[in-house]
Amino acid sequence: MSVHIGYCLYQRIVASAIAGAPQEVCGLLLGTHDRGRAVISDMVASRNVAANPQASFEIEPALVLEVPRTNGRNGAHLIGFYHSHPNGSARPSASDLDNAWPNFFYLIVAVNHNTDSSIWHVPKTGTAQVSHGLIVEPPPIDSNFARAYDRADTESGISATGDRHHGQPI
Ligand SMILES: [Zn+2]
Repeated sequence: MSVHIGYCLYQRIVASAIAGAPQEVCGLLLGTHDRGRAVISDMVASRNVAANPQASFEIEPALVLEVPRTNGRNGAHLIGFYHSHPNGSARPSASDLDNAWPNFFYLIVAVNHNTDSSIWHVPKTGTAQVSHGLIVEPPPIDSNFARAYDRADTESGISATGDRHHGQPI
C-alpha cells in the first residue's frame, strides 16, 4: 500500500523531530484511507508524556479523544501516529510494536539517520510490522516554493522541464 503526504506537511514533522531532539516527539496523523491508498492530510502535535521521553513516546490521551475517528472535516480522521527516533534507525522498536494499535499507521522519523523515515502498521498488537511506501507529494506547481525550487534546480545545473519553468525570468 502507498501512503501519500504533502511535502510541506512532511517537512513540518521532520522539523519538529529535529527541534525536539534529544527527546522523541510525537503526534497524530489525520487523513483518509480508501481502497489501498492512504492520504495523510494533517497532523496534531502532542506533548510526549512518557516517563522517559528520550527513550520512548506516549501521546496525551486527551488529544486522541478530541480528533474524529471517522469522517471529520473533509472526511479526514485519525489514521495513525508519528514519532521520532533521535538516535536510532527508523525501524520500530520492540515496544513500538507492542504498543501499536492494530491497523493504524505509524510514521517514524530517524533524526540522526539523515531523517530517514518508515511507515508501517501491525495487523495485531505485538506482531511484526507491515511496511508501506511513503510518497511525499511535491508542492503545488504555482506556489512560491515551486519557483524557489526551480531556481535551485537552475543553479545546480539540473535542467527542469515543462511547466515548472513558468514565471521564471528568462
Ligand atoms: Zn519508536
